[in-house]
Amino acid sequence: MLDALWFNPNEMLIGGTWKTAVSNLPLFNPSDGSLLAEIANGSAINIDEAVTAAQVARNGKWGQLSATERGRILTKIGQKVLERVDDLAEIEAYDVGKPLAQARADAVALARYMEFYGGAADKLMGETIPYLNGYTVYTLREPHGVTGHIIPWNYPMQIIGRSVGAALAMGNACVLKPAEEACLTALAFARICGEAGLPDGALNVVPGSGIEAGAALAGNPNVQHISFTGSVHTGALVQRAAGVNVVPVTLELGGKSPQLVFNDANLTAALPFLVNAGIQNAGQTCSASSRILIQRGIYNSVRDRMAEAYCNLTVGPAMADMHIGPLISERQKALVLEFLAKGSDLTIAAQGKLHDAPNNGAYVLPTLFENVTADHPLAQDEIFGPVQVLIPFETEEEAVAIANNTDYGLVAGIWTADGARQMRLAKSLRAGQIFINNYGAGGGVELPFGGIGKSGHGREKGFEALYGFSTLKTIAAHHG
Ligand code: NDP
Repeated sequence: MLDALWFNPNEMLIGGTWKTAVSNLPLFNPSDGSLLAEIANGSAINIDEAVTAAQVARNGKWGQLSATERGRILTKIGQKVLERVDDLAEIEAYDVGKPLAQARADAVALARYMEFYGGAADKLMGETIPYLNGYTVYTLREPHGVTGHIIPWNYPMQIIGRSVGAALAMGNACVLKPAEEACLTALAFARICGEAGLPDGALNVVPGSGIEAGAALAGNPNVQHISFTGSVHTGALVQRAAGVNVVPVTLELGGKSPQLVFNDANLTAALPFLVNAGIQNAGQTCSASSRILIQRGIYNSVRDRMAEAYCNLTVGPAMADMHIGPLISERQKALVLEFLAKGSDLTIAAQGKLHDAPNNGAYVLPTLFENVTADHPLAQDEIFGPVQVLIPFETEEEAVAIANNTDYGLVAGIWTADGARQMRLAKSLRAGQIFINNYGAGGGVELPFGGIGKSGHGREKGFEALYGFSTLKTIAAHHG
């Protein structure tokens, strides 16, 4: 098991040195509940050390590299990630419980982020601004300095790629606090960065608990930007802690994302997206489409086709590479089972089936509820499990009202052949990303991503992230 490891799981990286912590935390395999490894329980002192190391890197070799040189290093990291894709996929499958093929796709996405941000590092330019006679005015994009990255357990590699990749591209020095339930690929990535020539201290990785290490990073006065992905509750705590130091925060907090299916939709094209967007990564996806809004004329047909697809979904251990793996933990399983209990007044259209799943794994059957009202808790709250609700609607106006009637606003999908309706809905739906006749666009490293409302604020991914991970300086020269 985990033959692929080429680093010590119980170490952390601070200023280019791999260190052990004063204490360790257990890391469990969600597929069978077994102990996978002991990981470092990074302390608030370790976070302080990592922030200091990042400051040293900013003021030293890393800070002196040109944008082009930074880009070259990031591109090389991407190449090295590609060489280790199978190893990274295996580590992630054991650690997160992701089916192997999905873990592999995440590793490839990590490489793609590094390639993208490697190429983008020297492409973000300032402007010259026409001003009063006798002045030349221009702007410079500069790194914040030290950036803190607090990430969750659901897509460690992808979230490292999009946040650390963009931050490094702009010349920031990063302190990464991965989730205690899934930190192995963060450590593996840090090793790869060193092999690719990333200077010491440009990336520091301190695993540990959110309550100690995460909170210490969020409230550290020497950090100039925090990027957080996770729950609304913790995001609000992080924003409050950073606010004390007037530090800007990017929050990516999940959603309750709908897909709207109209009578004229191409159902054959839609069906795989309707199902996969809900059950991918066992539904533990911030952009999971957990609400499917269906126009009355095709409601029965869509329900029947989705139910048939659900009956064919198999759940099993990550390494067996079924459609769905276990949830990350018993804790997450208990949360999802609580939601399923809240649906006891609803009709289940279909459920998937278990396949050779060990007793101690955190497995939950994918469950499709039908005829759900828009205000039901299962249609309002983020479940973060393989659960979808079907909500019928009559008119376009009603569909928009239902779609916009949650606290969240991350992603929405529209399935219709009517071009004018596509344009109207793209404007009226409250979400940071809209997909027309698709959902997710294959991951979209290049596509700016983030939410409104309780889904958070700020944008990661794409070129847009580079604005978030930098600050603008205006220079006005008076020369007469
Ligand atoms: P959290 O939001 O608590 O965890 C996300 C990250 O924040 C982890 O690294 C965690 O550390 C860290 N953290 C926890 N507390 C603090 C704190 N006080 N200050 C700073 N950092 C902190 O998510 P959970 O793992 O508890 O999951 C609970 C729910 O959150 C899920 O059911 C789901 O609804 C939602 N969620 C949403 C995600 C998304 O992608 N939008 C991702 C994950 C969860 P550690 O885990 O090491 O303690």
